[in-house]
Amino acid sequence: MSEPTTPQKFTFQAEISQLLDIVTHSLYTEKEIFLRELVSNAADALEKLRHTQLTEKEIFDDRLDLEINVTTDDKAKTITIQDFGIGMTRAELVENLGTIAHSGSKAFLKSLAEGDQKNTNLIGQFGVGFYSAFMVAKTVKVYSHSWRAAEPGHLWTSTGAGSYEIEESEGQRRGSKIVIELKDDCTEYAQDGKAKEILERYSAFVSFPINLNGKRINAIQALWLRNKNEVKDEEYTEFYKFQAHAYDEPRLRLHFSADAPLSINALLFVPKENTEKLGFSRTEASVALYCRKVLIDAKPKNLLPEWLRFLKGVVDSEDLPLNISRETMQDKALIEKLSKVITKRFLKFLEEEAKNRPDAYAEFYAEFGIFLKEGAAMDFGHKDGLVKLLRFESSLTEKGKTTSLAEYVTRLTGDQKEIYYLVGPNRAALENGPYLEAFKARNLEVLFCYEAVDEYVMNNVREFDGKTLTAADHADVKLSELPKPEGALSDTDVQTLTKWLKETLDGRVAEVKASDRLVDSPVLALNADKFMSPHMRRMMKAMNKDGADAPLRVNLEINPRHAVIKRLWETHTGNPEKAKLVAEQLLDNALLSAGLLEDTTSMVARLNKLLETA
Ligand code: ADP
Ligand code: MG
Repeated sequence: MSEPTTPQKFTFQAEISQLLDIVTHSLYTEKEIFLRELVSNAADALEKLRHTQLTEKEIFDDRLDLEINVTTDDKAKTITIQDFGIGMTRAELVENLGTIAHSGSKAFLKSLAEGDQKNTNLIGQFGVGFYSAFMVAKTVKVYSHSWRAAEPGHLWTSTGAGSYEIEESEGQRRGSKIVIELKDDCTEYAQDGKAKEILERYSAFVSFPINLNGKRINAIQALWLRNKNEVKDEEYTEFYKFQAHAYDEPRLRLHFSADAPLSINALLFVPKENTEKLGFSRTEASVALYCRKVLIDAKPKNLLPEWLRFLKGVVDSEDLPLNISRETMQDKALIEKLSKVITKRFLKFLEEEAKNRPDAYAEFYAEFGIFLKEGAAMDFGHKDGLVKLLRFESSLTEKGKTTSLAEYVTRLTGDQKEIYYLVGPNRAALENGPYLEAFKARNLEVLFCYEAVDEYVMNNVREFDGKTLTAADHADVKLSELPKPEGALSDTDVQTLTKWLKETLDGRVAEVKASDRLVDSPVLALNADKFMSPHMRRMMKAMNKDGADAPLRVNLEINPRHAVIKRLWETHTGNPEKAKLVAEQLLDNALLSAGLLEDTTSMVARLNKLLETA
């Protein structure tokens, strides 16, 4: 055996010094990620050894288990990470730990050079690998023995200030052992409980055993990397509960992988219940982002569009650090790409569900449809995919059954260019309201919308398959002529009566005309304000919003075939005082049906007067 050499001193490559300077002086809050980085290096080293074992016969210390041992010592204020992986030779220690070869650190530096000085939280997102140890370390010692038996083991030491030393070191096992002597304000990492918490957070799915102070802590498999044909339902459920901290069972799940344009393994879950609907606060995005089983971000904000915030699960992409190095801080573009691929895939999945398991889809929709509507209204990029997934009850469906817009279009009659909808509190209110009868009489289907956001959604979606989405209660809607039934007032009588009504109802109506839509009701109030529908007005009033108090502008339509109108025609000259009361009451009735009657006190007084004359 040769004499151990004296320690040899090296200076770090200039870039490394710069990096270390930032890492050690940043007030970065998530210092704990150093442990994630070192464990991920250990796992990489074990993986490389496993590959080497396939081709090489002579492996140093060949009977060691492929595992990672973390030990803490709160007296000595140290934490040690040991792996029995591939190890490093002297030359490799210099090459790997003294120069900037590796991806994440390089990208980080470049972004800083490009003036993104403030962006130190990038350390947390992508790590700066091995060097993040210096966020918490006074000194870092790396004992390493390569799998190549011929070379002795070495000890690499540095305080992170400009230089490091390497000396030979006797009696080592294969692999690397990294001993961190903690800074005085970082001694918490020498506690078993703290280390456990961090390892469970970031490294729960690492596929090699991790023991902390002799106790195994990671038993859960990275299910998303397994072949889906080999995973049992119970395993998925158990994983969901663990990963999403959930107590329910998942309602839907999508497990898929893709190679192009990005390598992705994803396992997504839709929970049983929509907690926002239950009145809990806004759900936070919580599909976690992994790179090769190591957590990068548990709650990445921009990984998926806002409206997918109800999803749980995991997205793992090997391309993450790679692209980071090549594009340097184009991570935004990369995340966008990931987002697109995953969102498209999920939309396709929902479409298949709707087709193959319509009942399950309907249940899903009842619970989570609101998110799809939000997306359809706000996310232009995915609007087309989302609109296809929307469902509505309609004047032609049974109560509780729904139709898609595509199905509606197949039932269009004649040259109908519009998809009609009505917004109201529930089916009964819409069926009994005055607006539907004209559409029924013409065999036109009307979609029923019961949710507060529907109006906004319909306005934003605007059209489907070339057909305009049109509110059936809007004054602009033109309907075809129906054959005039017997006994209607003549056109000239109608003209006189509408003129009289407009004068009599002075200021309360914008316009009065004969209706082509009324069948069973005498009058109808139509919204004359393009920008505020009756429903919207009600909502704004409920929320005390500005604009809700603007004078109401309605058009009154009368039914020249209805007995009440004919009677009004007869009395309006003979008994103008009573006719005025009737006219006002008719307008109030119309407003009441439309949910627009704001002051009922004058109505009661008037009704009493009318009763006196009865
Ligand atoms: P990355 O892991 O992204 O390559 P790091 O800064 O984490 O970058 O590590 C730099 C290099 O040091 C690694 O690529 C690897 O070659 C070497 N290395 C780090 N830790 C170990 C280890 N425990 N065993 C063997 N090699 C290691
Ligand atoms: Mg690394």
